[in-house]
Amino acid sequence: MSRTQRRFRTSYRHIKIHKGESRHHKKCKCHGGGDEPNNISVVSQSKHDLFHALFGSKTPEQIAKELTNVWLDPAYEFICRRKE
Ligand SMILES: [Zn+2]
Repeated sequence: MSRTQRRFRTSYRHIKIHKGESRHHKKCKCHGGGDEPNNISVVSQSKHDLFHALFGSKTPEQIAKELTNVWLDPAYEFICRRKE
């Protein structure tokens, strides 16, 4: 296996997408997220664009705070809890 083949196999780019889809890093690369398959979601390009338009590269805690403060019924609070 060539170096290029090895690099491709370990890259998230080998995760297949169809026309109109894109790959999203669940944990942003700017926050230390990697290219492992469990950190990649395949989403429609339009939803991907909207997600980043709303949340940019905010952390889960920042997203939860914005959902609570801006978007939700004031009787509710969006809770963000790190998995154990
Ligand atoms: Zn993304």
